[in-house]
Amino acid sequence: MAQRVTVSDGVNKKTSRVRVAVRLRPYMEKQDEKAEGSCVRGLDSKNLEIINWRNATETVKYHFDVFHGEKTTQQEVFLSSVKPILSHALNGQNASVFAYGPTGAGKTHTMLGSSEQPGVIPRAVREVFNQVRSRDEEGWNYSIAISYLEIYNEKVLDLLSPSSQDLPIRENKDKNILIPGLTDTVISSFSDFEKHFVPATLNRTTASTKLNQRSSRSHAILLIKVVRTQRTLPHRQQTGKLYLVDLAGSEDNRRTGNQGIRLKESGAINLSLFTLSKVVDSLNSGTSCRVPYRDSKLTRLLQDSLGGSAHSVMITNIAPEYKYYFDTFTTLNFAAKSKLIVNKPFTRETVAVPVLSVKRSREDHETKVSGSE
Ligand code: ADP
Ligand code: MG
Repeated sequence: MAQRVTVSDGVNKKTSRVRVAVRLRPYMEKQDEKAEGSCVRGLDSKNLEIINWRNATETVKYHFDVFHGEKTTQQEVFLSSVKPILSHALNGQNASVFAYGPTGAGKTHTMLGSSEQPGVIPRAVREVFNQVRSRDEEGWNYSIAISYLEIYNEKVLDLLSPSSQDLPIRENKDKNILIPGLTDTVISSFSDFEKHFVPATLNRTTASTKLNQRSSRSHAILLIKVVRTQRTLPHRQQTGKLYLVDLAGSEDNRRTGNQGIRLKESGAINLSLFTLSKVVDSLNSGTSCRVPYRDSKLTRLLQDSLGGSAHSVMITNIAPEYKYYFDTFTTLNFAAKSKLIVNKPFTRETVAVPVLSVKRSREDHETKVSGSE
């Protein structure tokens, strides 16, 4: 991972870039009533392109640290984007993994998955226990604990203790971020983890929006804390934290028909995602300007685990259908700081017989899109 030196708080610090991966979920017919096909295409393991709505003969090409195409398995995503940072948490360092993207693009699939296709969270927990077992000879005792919380409307809520109120976020003298009162449950095995985690996921606040029946309106944050203690004198103790975050949907809420309470949620979601984007941006650009962690609860909570000496990965989830076009476009622009317009026909070459009807529906779309600006 690239390291660069930045100036922050007036002190020279080594700052890790946030690694940015993009995952394209498979095309889903039911998300494409007009049968328009896909507007995104992978090029190789780092590059993808999206059709340019201003000119359908052009595409916009993006470059990322990693591109996971639609055939990428859960195991591949885990091995490439998450497993490499787990060992840091076992060595007393902090790390974080985020799933970012619009509702319906695959964040929960990536983080949680299903029993047939488990995602990052269950794989990471299993791997933490595997690594602890394989380090038995090294002279440390390990204790693993989880906390599980959500940030909803800028409130911090404990999902392992659902009756809890909004919890405060504090910083101690060593610049560690703490949440006094947050449940911290020691787990001794994967099944122990499931026993606490599965019922708690059901406590997540979800409500329907026009875009998705069970749209997630909050940021769900699993913290895996690893405390290790030397078996012999001087019994040194180290604590590493791994945050696994399923962010709220990044869709443009002006389009989802949100009003009242939904609109208030949208404001809170937009504030924290906007602040997250500023934080990632200022970490990755390596500039000396202040990293605005304190501007939202999400970034404040993650302050000691994002940037600085922490290891972070953002998995940006996108969907290929045209109805996600603008969300995909803004999501990619959030995640990538450079893009390139390429002159090249896009889906046309893959369309066989119904060229005219496909083309026409695309033109309809474009007219509507430019009219809605
Ligand atoms: P989000 O959490 O971003 O709103 P979901 O994870 O719920 O999105 O994904 C939306 C739908 O797409 C779900 O039915 C999910 O199972 C499916 N899906 C997402 N990503 C993939 C994938 N890589 N492979 C197969 N199905 C996927
Ligand atoms: Mg979700």
